Amino acid sequence: IQELQRSKVAIVGIGMSGMSVLRFMLDKGIVPKVFDSRLVPPIAEKDQQFINQVERQFGEFKADEFIDFDYVIVSPGISLKEPALANAQRYNENVFCDVELFARINTKPVIAVTGSNGKSTVVAWLEDFLGRMGKNAVACGNFGVPVLDVIEYAYNGEPVDIFIMELSSFQLESTHSLICEAATVLNVTPDHMDRYESFSEYGRAKLRIYNHSKLCLYNNDDFETKPLLNCNNVHAFGTEAQSRAESYWYFNKETEEIVLNNQVIGNLGQLSLSGSHNGLNAIVVLALANALGVDPVKEFHNLSHFTGLPHRCKFIADANGILFVDDSKATNVASTQAAINGLAKQSEKNIVLIAGGDAKGADLSELRDDINKHVKKVIAFGKDKIQFTEFLKPEQLVLVNSMAEAVEQSIKLVQQGDIVLLSPACASIDMYKNYQHRGIDFKENVLAAISGLTQ
Ligand code: ADP
Repeated sequence: IQELQRSKVAIVGIGMSGMSVLRFMLDKGIVPKVFDSRLVPPIAEKDQQFINQVERQFGEFKADEFIDFDYVIVSPGISLKEPALANAQRYNENVFCDVELFARINTKPVIAVTGSNGKSTVVAWLEDFLGRMGKNAVACGNFGVPVLDVIEYAYNGEPVDIFIMELSSFQLESTHSLICEAATVLNVTPDHMDRYESFSEYGRAKLRIYNHSKLCLYNNDDFETKPLLNCNNVHAFGTEAQSRAESYWYFNKETEEIVLNNQVIGNLGQLSLSGSHNGLNAIVVLALANALGVDPVKEFHNLSHFTGLPHRCKFIADANGILFVDDSKATNVASTQAAINGLAKQSEKNIVLIAGGDAKGADLSELRDDINKHVKKVIAFGKDKIQFTEFLKPEQLVLVNSMAEAVEQSIKLVQQGDIVLLSPACASIDMYKNYQHRGIDFKENVLAAISGLTQ
């Protein structure tokens, strides 16, 4: 902190994390200069008082914009390949994100979670689980609140016992010294391919999470999650019966049993979430808590309180035996696959899938097998809906222009026992503010449409 007080500091990008860096610095007597590439960045009224205290510059960055600064704290929303930042990194090793700043100051235990899908669920579940044992665990990072907002006190005003950090590949790219009690990469499937040159570049960014972790927990079903370096403690989880990891957390998809080193600990049926992806999420929560000394057998019952986050395979309505499920958070192919397979009835085609949006450069045809197996009809909308015509037969697909139309069509196609699933496999930004907004639009349309059905 003292060094920062003496230094020239830039904050680049004034979104949620940028604002938290600014508040933190002002509180510590550090006066940075703030930058944003947008001419008029959206700044909430409550934040204006902080912005007004510092020098600021908005609009496109010049190539040498940051080379005179001692510290450049970059928002994870901005690529480090951006010429002005690439230049700054040539002269300066102190170009990093808020998580690295946190790592250099923090003295409390940290659990870190990354992956393409399931991060928020695991982080929120672990926070809930540890909270039930009286620990002040705080979910932060990419999920919940920015890390610097809670570095000293949690929002309940109490000191934090443990940070449960969700980290994106963008944050990990510029995080170097985060020490963790345990870290996990849940899975690595293509996402954000509009920002990475290759899949392996994206995967490597995620594996950085293991660098200073006392325990590395990888997914035995997904080789890309395995630590590359020599880690002392390597544990694994997965749905295959065998693993060579020191400790193996196994989820049996058939029986839904949760097993640690051949000992059955419990069953997914005892918990409030369903679908085999949530079976995996449950064992990850247990494995991470176990790294903190929690006894998985004794505390298993405490896992059952968590009912899931909104917009993640959330059941929203039942109209005469037809279920409506909001999985708006499924913004890539793998998460939609998990939702389809988690909700499908064995080999039946009981799902009407509403999908589409901005595919972010992904290949949606990877959904073909899951759709052929379990989906009656796909109702596609949004910017990249046309991709579905390239791999589905015309009779499998309906193209529409709005959520209202999608819901209206879905209701014509379903019968009792079916599920209407919004799981877009795409980002929402082509039509919505964010995935929450898309999920709410779905729910409102569903509730309006079924009020006619159930009358
Ligand atoms: P993230 O924070 O990584 O985006 P979320 O917990 O918000 O992940 O879940 C996003 C979507 O990913 C969910 O809607 C669900 O369809 C899917 N999902 C959840 N857990 C898993 C998992 N372990 N493996 C694959 N897909 C998952």
